[in-house]
Amino acid sequence: LFLTFEGPEGAGKSTQLAALVRHLHGAGYTVTETREPGGTLLGTQVRRVVLDPEVEMEPLPEFLLYSASRAQLVAEVIRPALARGEVVVCDRYADSTLAYQGYGRGLGLDFLTRVTAEATGGLRPDLTALLDLDPALGLARAARRGQPDRLERADLAFHTRVREGFLTLAAAEPGRFLVLDATRPVAELSADIWEATQRRLAA
Ligand code: C5P
Repeated sequence: LFLTFEGPEGAGKSTQLAALVRHLHGAGYTVTETREPGGTLLGTQVRRVVLDPEVEMEPLPEFLLYSASRAQLVAEVIRPALARGEVVVCDRYADSTLAYQGYGRGLGLDFLTRVTAEATGGLRPDLTALLDLDPALGLARAARRGQPDRLERADLAFHTRVREGFLTLAAAEPGRFLVLDATRPVAELSADIWEATQRRLAA
């Protein structure tokens, strides 16, 4: 089973991912936990570059770097783990690219979808938890945690497009997405995510 978390910074993705991994471990599953960009040596170096405020980057090279990180992660980590029968939980995946580089930065969705299909070999999540949050709230939360990256400088309009993008993607695939209001209590959210996960595990 392949599970992903999506949503803006500050929505509590990491907290919810950790809670889900605890639930899975408690139920006896072997879990591979990963993130993108990151998760491999290549991905970690890509992450450093794309989040460096000093590095000027156009939308296209940014997208290609994310894609490079994702292609390596799928080949090196995700597919082998799935082949071993493990549950894979990933912090961000292809939906982030469509939302940020597509809806946010304006790259063509067809192009992004084609390259992403190549990079992933067509691997798609069984369940995607989208933590939806008003961008103004998300940016305030991220700023409080002292995580200034180059995307935090981006304007509210950008983050609003990203949010709409995530919601559009979710509406197109209601069977895969679990859309959650990220302002709800942490324990309620993790209970909902665990319930949806159990349903997929039983399917
Ligand atoms: O929340 P996380 O730490 O994973 O996000 C890292 C940063 O990368 C976020 O600021 C997010 O806006 C950005 N990102 C992006 N495009 C992607 C994936 C992440 O702009 N495809």
